[in-house]
Amino acid sequence: MRIVHVSAEFAPIAKAGGLGEVLVGLARECTKQKENVEVILPKYSSIDMGKLSSVKMEVPDFKCWEKGNLQPNAVWSATCEEVTLKLIDVRHPSGYFHRGQIYGCQDDVARFLYFSRAVCEYLKLRSEKIDVLHLHDWHVAPIALLARDLFNLPIGAIVLTIHNAEYQGQCAHWDLDAIGLNGLKYQTKELLQDPLHPESLNLLKGGIVYANWVTTVSPTYAKELLTVELGGNLQPTFFKYRKKFSGILNGLDLTLWDPGYKKGDRIETIYVVKKKAKEKLCKQFALVPTSNPWVGSITRLVFQKGPELIEETLCETVRQKGTFILLASPSTPEYQLHFEKLKKRFEPTGYARLILEYDEETAHLLYTALDFLILPSRYEPCGLAQMIAMRHGTIPIARATGGHKDTIVDGKTGFLFPDYTSASLSAALQKGIQEYRTHPDVIEKMILQGIAIDWSWKKPAQEYLNLYKKLI
Ligand code: ADP
Repeated sequence: MRIVHVSAEFAPIAKAGGLGEVLVGLARECTKQKENVEVILPKYSSIDMGKLSSVKMEVPDFKCWEKGNLQPNAVWSATCEEVTLKLIDVRHPSGYFHRGQIYGCQDDVARFLYFSRAVCEYLKLRSEKIDVLHLHDWHVAPIALLARDLFNLPIGAIVLTIHNAEYQGQCAHWDLDAIGLNGLKYQTKELLQDPLHPESLNLLKGGIVYANWVTTVSPTYAKELLTVELGGNLQPTFFKYRKKFSGILNGLDLTLWDPGYKKGDRIETIYVVKKKAKEKLCKQFALVPTSNPWVGSITRLVFQKGPELIEETLCETVRQKGTFILLASPSTPEYQLHFEKLKKRFEPTGYARLILEYDEETAHLLYTALDFLILPSRYEPCGLAQMIAMRHGTIPIARATGGHKDTIVDGKTGFLFPDYTSASLSAALQKGIQEYRTHPDVIEKMILQGIAIDWSWKKPAQEYLNLYKKLI
């Protein structure tokens, strides 16, 4: 099958969160299964070209229409993590993909609408039949309408995967005009009009309407999106298209996440590695060595991930003379300021460390060193962090929502708490700490059960392939 993914992220060269990891995991597994797979993404200036091999200029120059002008672009072909990439080198005067960041620019809508059109221009140049065009999130969702309404591309089926329905790409009708679509034509209830803000268009909704099939990243989140509480403004759209909507649980790229121990290893072996990681962190961050539990969080610091409950866990762990480490990339100046204050308050105790940045290397070390990973999300489409934790013998303490429910068995591989409240979190944290202090045998069993789970992409990739086959 000829499968083309389009995405804003691809780990390790362009990763902001789980999306990049899903792309590499899914594409690598389908490639291994001898499918003809490609991933198209922007050639961000931040990409470390040293991580690519077989880099070739494939198309030195092609034009993309925007606001009446033809802008220059090129395409590079390369291999990364065994996957064939097509990097769209956008040479737009606004330096759309030369910003040092993937998202979070004021003109994100313009950047990704342009990218969407550029992808279609490139596919038109190639004019070959694609069996499945697999789009990821709102950034590239407009490709579904461009491919069908403007470019008439020879595509068997378009699949849209929603990695987080909170991000939808709301914009004005004239934003679509900029890439050659008649925006007003799409501002209808049936098409792209946002259900809550009728003056706006909603690019994610457009993807849902136009795709042949829509998936999200866990079966529970798929069910939750059909509820008014979690489906929010798009609930009516999910409900209307429920017959072409399903949840496929993410896998984990086991090459990216390899702690050095595996299913069947003895607990002593695992503890030796974990102890070494703790010693390294103690040295690196001047922490007091202790045999009390180590609790931590590795996250984007955003409303979704429950920053207030992360703070409560920090306070409670330190109060109980455990060690707490936070590795978090703040999303807003407010969170940055607030957590910097906490840093000043707690770090002098020697029992806490707050690292307010994105740091892959420390993340790897932390997943190994921690005893518990706290995941108090308000909602969680899938979540990779809990799977990475279990693979490293770190027990997740997580809010029972979305993908957490599909991956953690309460009391067996982790602790789940039902409500987004201090009381609910506190009860689960206490349970974990208590077991750690009084029943090491229970903790050992949980660690071994977590490590034994097969998180590989084999099964999820097969589910996607079955879906593709059904559609074409
Ligand atoms: P999301 O995609 O919503 O951020 P996931 O749990 O699906 O959440 O994926 C998060 C990924 O990003 C994990 O691999 C996690 O380790 C990583 N990550 C999150 N924050 C940081 C950080 N501050 N530093 C390094 N890695 C991080």
